[in-house]
Amino acid sequence: MSADAEPDETTRHIVLVGAGHAHVEVLRRLRLRPEPSIRITLITRTPETPYSGMVPGFVAGHYQRSETNIRVDRLADFEGCTALFAHAAGLDADGPRVLLKDGRSVSGDLISVDVGAVTDISDAPRNGGLVVSVKPMDEFENCWPMVEQRMKSESGVQIAVIGAGAAGVELALAIRYRLDHMNAGTDKLARVVLVERGARILSGFPDTVRERLTRILLRKGIQVRTNFGAFDDDEAPGPFRILIWAAGVSPAAWLAGSGLASDAHGFIAVNRHLQSTSHPAFFAAGDAAGMVESPRPKSGVMAVRQGPILAENLLRAARGLPLKSFWPQKEWLSLISTGERYAVASRGNWSAEGRWVWYWKNWLDTRFIDRFSV
Ligand SMILES: Cc1cc2nc3c(=O)[nH]c(=O)nc-3n(C[C@H](O)[C@H](O)[C@H](O)COP(=O)(O)OP(=O)(O)OC[C@H]3O[C@@H](n4cnc5c(N)ncnc54)[C@H](O)[C@@H]3O)c2cc1C
Repeated sequence: MSADAEPDETTRHIVLVGAGHAHVEVLRRLRLRPEPSIRITLITRTPETPYSGMVPGFVAGHYQRSETNIRVDRLADFEGCTALFAHAAGLDADGPRVLLKDGRSVSGDLISVDVGAVTDISDAPRNGGLVVSVKPMDEFENCWPMVEQRMKSESGVQIAVIGAGAAGVELALAIRYRLDHMNAGTDKLARVVLVERGARILSGFPDTVRERLTRILLRKGIQVRTNFGAFDDDEAPGPFRILIWAAGVSPAAWLAGSGLASDAHGFIAVNRHLQSTSHPAFFAAGDAAGMVESPRPKSGVMAVRQGPILAENLLRAARGLPLKSFWPQKEWLSLISTGERYAVASRGNWSAEGRWVWYWKNWLDTRFIDRFSV
């Protein structure tokens, strides 16, 4: 197929960029109910995409990588859908067109972007240590064997996790667990430090959840340093041989310059229909989208919830029908695993913890992954 093949007059062509949490749901729905007048092209980097909820479990060693990933190559293998495993490198808002890194371009009637976000490590100190960004998650998973190798081979390894949001806390605990179960836990000098620039960990979570996790971190011997500028203290990152960067999210650099309107942080500005506020042929979801009418913290839960509305709106837009609105919840369930098969649950002001929470999370996560297995 020529990447720039034109759809015929009766067929509408929808281009999905990235196999993020919302797009896998779009694909699942289109696969179940194929639309003869709709042609789909999925452009995504890799044939598999990680499910974020299970990444800490993969780090802890509870899951194989294959168990935490959705096989998008199989999901996109249906009549009317073409998958291109390629890097998007730009958007032409007036095209509408997606520009690929290899020089090709793909035009469509509608273009939907769900490419996640990145953690920017360009400022990270380079002192011979290994610096690994947690986002994009597919690249994090690629780097993980290297981290594990270093954890195994360097006695007394010092690891800093930068950023004490839910992902940073989960990863610090998962790494601690992995260290304790590696080399039969003989490396007593290995150290994990959780570094937070702000005054407290888990900002945005209620005090009860913060207290539960502070206690667990302490019990596991993870040192928490708040109000800590990771770069302006003499001690950091000197002793750390591995830095896991979980702080802050930014849009992928190639989204800038597309001509699409963006929110204050540079993410694609979308209205309540998940449609670009400046170019109606473009839609966006997940971390890449900035919901300007109802901003919410970036999360996999939000991206998953957007999936059904995005699927519906892409079909409606293709047929010229009125679009549906996405009303994001104000509160949702968070399940934070703590390394071993134990987790903390929180929703609004309610919280709980225990092994049963981990098994509940495991059940929800594996059920989610199963929805997409073909
Ligand atoms: C360790 C960790 C644990 C987390 N746990 C949770 C949790 O338990 N619950 C929760 O709600 N959130 C969690 N999050 C947050 C969650 O990961 C993100 O908010 C979520 O993944 C966003 O999904 P998305 O759809 O925006 O894109 P992603 O899931 O990031 O997917 C992006 C997709 O786009 C593809 N792609 C990227 N760039 C390109 C390109 N240039 N060209 C082509 N394809 C591209 C990627 O290969 C990938 O398939 C966690 C995050 C981390 C780091």
